[in-house]
Amino acid sequence: MATETPTVAAATIRSTNPATGEVLDEIPCATPDDVHSAVARAKGAQPQWQSTPVQQRVELLRRFQQLLNQQRDDVAQLICREAGKPVAEALATEVLVVLDAAEFCLRNAFSFLRERPLPHANLAMKTKRGKLVCEPYGVIGIIAPWNYPFSIPAVEALGALVTGNAVVLKPSEFTPVIALELQRLLLTAGLHPDLMQVVIGEGPVGAALAESAVDKLIFTGSVATGKRVGEAAARRLLPVVLELGGKDPMIVLDDADLEVASSGAMWGAFMNAGQTCLSVERCYVHLTLYEPFLAKCREKIARLRVGNGIDSEVEIGPMIHERQLRIVDDQVRDAVQRGARLLAGGKRLSELGPNFYAPTLLADVTNDMRIMQQETFGPVLPVAAFDNDDEAIRLANDSEFGLAASIWTRDRERGEAMAAKIKAGTVMLNDMISCFGIAEAPHGGFKQSGIGRTHGEMGLQEMVQVKYVDVDLMPRMKKVWWFGYSGEYQRQMGGFADLLFARKWAAKLKGALSSLALLRRSNRI
Ligand code: NAD
Repeated sequence: MATETPTVAAATIRSTNPATGEVLDEIPCATPDDVHSAVARAKGAQPQWQSTPVQQRVELLRRFQQLLNQQRDDVAQLICREAGKPVAEALATEVLVVLDAAEFCLRNAFSFLRERPLPHANLAMKTKRGKLVCEPYGVIGIIAPWNYPFSIPAVEALGALVTGNAVVLKPSEFTPVIALELQRLLLTAGLHPDLMQVVIGEGPVGAALAESAVDKLIFTGSVATGKRVGEAAARRLLPVVLELGGKDPMIVLDDADLEVASSGAMWGAFMNAGQTCLSVERCYVHLTLYEPFLAKCREKIARLRVGNGIDSEVEIGPMIHERQLRIVDDQVRDAVQRGARLLAGGKRLSELGPNFYAPTLLADVTNDMRIMQQETFGPVLPVAAFDNDDEAIRLANDSEFGLAASIWTRDRERGEAMAAKIKAGTVMLNDMISCFGIAEAPHGGFKQSGIGRTHGEMGLQEMVQVKYVDVDLMPRMKKVWWFGYSGEYQRQMGGFADLLFARKWAAKLKGALSSLALLRRSNRI
């Protein structure tokens, strides 16, 4: 979650296991000079990478994909140890997502990067051939959060690299080791070290990257930091993608399958200990299902196993750090004080380790509570009742965020009609979060949830600048619209407009005749 950028840069970053407090590594922080040199090296290496045939870039991604698949268990365990999520979840929501994103790039890089002809409809432009060419930006800066410390920077880096860019990655200060693992895999696959550099440190290192000579910045993190990054970028017109926070609503309609929806709510609210930008952060249930839904959730929460995610039976690991835990605890207490019913959890589980919080179920919450407006980013499922579809839409849209939403119903048409009214970058019917694992699906938000998209073809588009190249097929002809203006030319141009756009045939014909005279215009300079 948003942290104030420290004014004094730390000298080293200590990576710790959030489940145990064990120190995994202590890594020197990059200085601003280090950041600028990394970007300079990336700039030096990028042109050759850009001119490397796409086939070779694709082959490198394939080698990376194969290496990752061979080493997936080690990578998943490392993610578990540094970020806290269970190993199985690290495999499903991080490693698999990256394998699949690599596959998407392998399959689509050629067609995406192919030059596209751009036919002209306008008669006056028929003597030209236009085409669209995708060019890499150069150096893509990536600033990443800790909650998906492998998949977020990896998906972005793969898209950047396959399109011919170099990458400088600033990972979260809470998960530097995983970022270095991503770099190791790419370099082992054969990538030149200057094309994938990692600069370690806290906020000031990210700020230095935003001020550096990168050509585009892909930022993923909180709204507060995203705004600071956006401001810094705007000062120098640096293009940015901002993937920011969410407050995703889950809407359970009166015809939903209660058993499925309540299980969905469990995973949606509690996977990764609720620290997912696409988590179910608010749940609205139709009045007729409200109490049965709460009863099912209560019963299912009691069956969830919380603990150190290295144990393969564990479903919910620790939260990332104490500060995040305090935010969650404050919001839960505030909701209870203001009348919410606490049906499960609502407390730390200190007996398990430093950062554990019990999966929490709150009923009778209202939209004016902090827990329904601010991002919670913890294992909390706050539930409220609604009366009709319009009210559900109003409640769901009553948020400054607009990342994603889910609608639970057996009636596809009704669900799709509601989806059209939800202000969010993604709406899923009868599932949530898994959109992040659909390599083709664009990921990004409406409103304060961000600007731009990652993943899929739209994600690749963010990595390139489109150049329009036009070739005139009559290089020995002066163009009819060049200088040599006169009253007659003005009338001829009017006739040409009639030829193209007049509705009546007589006017078109008259226009055609005066247009012919345009071609014969002899006083062109
Ligand atoms: P954060 O905003 O605190 O930090 C994100 C990154 O920005 C970190 O690497 C941090 O060091 C860096 N940073 C901090 N100050 C900076 C500055 N002034 N300039 C440049 N960089 C700076 O976010 P977090 O706590 O790491 O991540 C959690 C947040 O990320 C949540 O709000 C979550 O919703 C959001 N998130 C969004 C998505 C998405 O795709 N929309 C995905 C994952 C997480």
